[in-house]
Amino acid sequence: MPMTAHDSSLIDLGKRYWLPVYKPREVVLERGEGARIWDTEGRDYIDFGAGIAVNALGHRDPDLVAALVGQANKLWHSSNVFYTEPPLRLAEELVKASGFAERVFFCNSGAEANEAAIKLVRKWAAAQGRLPEKRVIVTFRGSFHGRTLAAVTATAQPKYQEGYEPLPGGFRYLDFNDAGALEAAFAAGDIAAVMLEPVQGEGGVLPAAPGFIKRVRELCDAHGALLVLDEIQCGMGRTGTLFAYVQDHVKPDIVTLAKALGCGFPIGAMLAGPKVAEVMQFGAHGTTFGGNPMAAAVARVALRKLSSPEVLLNVERQANDLRAGLARLNEELGLFAELRGRGLMLGAVLAEPYKGKAGAILDHAAAHGLLLLQAGPDVLRFVPPLTLGDADLAEGLARLRAALKSFLDSEPH
Ligand SMILES: *Cc1c(COP(=O)(O)O)cnc(C)c1O
Repeated sequence: MPMTAHDSSLIDLGKRYWLPVYKPREVVLERGEGARIWDTEGRDYIDFGAGIAVNALGHRDPDLVAALVGQANKLWHSSNVFYTEPPLRLAEELVKASGFAERVFFCNSGAEANEAAIKLVRKWAAAQGRLPEKRVIVTFRGSFHGRTLAAVTATAQPKYQEGYEPLPGGFRYLDFNDAGALEAAFAAGDIAAVMLEPVQGEGGVLPAAPGFIKRVRELCDAHGALLVLDEIQCGMGRTGTLFAYVQDHVKPDIVTLAKALGCGFPIGAMLAGPKVAEVMQFGAHGTTFGGNPMAAAVARVALRKLSSPEVLLNVERQANDLRAGLARLNEELGLFAELRGRGLMLGAVLAEPYKGKAGAILDHAAAHGLLLLQAGPDVLRFVPPLTLGDADLAEGLARLRAALKSFLDSEPH
């Protein structure tokens, strides 16, 4: 759907100079406030995407800005060969909030956090005397774990892997939520870890079935394997608790975080529980920018606010309202086959006649002042700021209704 003219000379720069691995909508965003964003033409948008589940406190949160500016006026970077205060405090705060971790490794992104987790699993298995061929990591179809070579190999979706062969070995893929298949796979005796997202994000906003993660934990315990949870998208309060695994009543061995950990400032973290916290020693791993004081100062504020009862109660309340609003829209328009997800991580699965049309719907949404995401070609993904207020939710749903109606009008019948 054509948008009104944007600064095309600016957009042309992207088309001319960027490696064309993204296909952004032709909108140039300029500033944000809460759950709203304005483009360079002065149009406003309701933000139901929060980046990609990143801006969990919305845009321009005053406490995040104060933390960033305060640290920017002190010290930006010192490398990991000296201590600074923000990452020291943040590590303690994350360990205490996690209820299982003993140590934290900081990095700059989700893929790096998962890369660290994969390396930690292997180091742990090696320390146990397991041969390289007995260090298999099981992941699940539809998962997404990032784009580095190991993380994309863990990502059990061919579309992300094609053309990057040879892929590193040591991964095995099973169907998500199939505990029987996992039990059978353990019989081979070569599995060192199982890695999964409590709610699959990119793969279509698909939550682990009730009891599945608990069963995975039991099987891992029975067979001496580690449980690695990728909470990069579903963590930091998005499902209504700071960590999603709390609702699954398990203690993982490793958890990875990124996205909302910095609420828009790049930071990733790997949390390591008692079985693995001492496995990596001096020189075993590292990164130049990980745990830099700017990112850590911001993440401390993000962690404090995202674990507050105020934010977590808002997640529960707005999640109910968003679900109810989407269900009402569906009664009227009949576009969705299913609504699924947890907390403020919801997916609307498109009904059969509209399969593959998520991208087209997103164009209509943007044209109607709503920033929305997809999770594959068949699922609309709702991951708004966790601080979303009643008025913005209502306005976002009204804009969505208008967008869906204009999409339906444009469909050949
Ligand atoms: C986004 C995401 C990643 C990758 O994070 P990057 O910061 O893009 O490297 C990994 N796992 C999950 C579940 C994600 O949603």
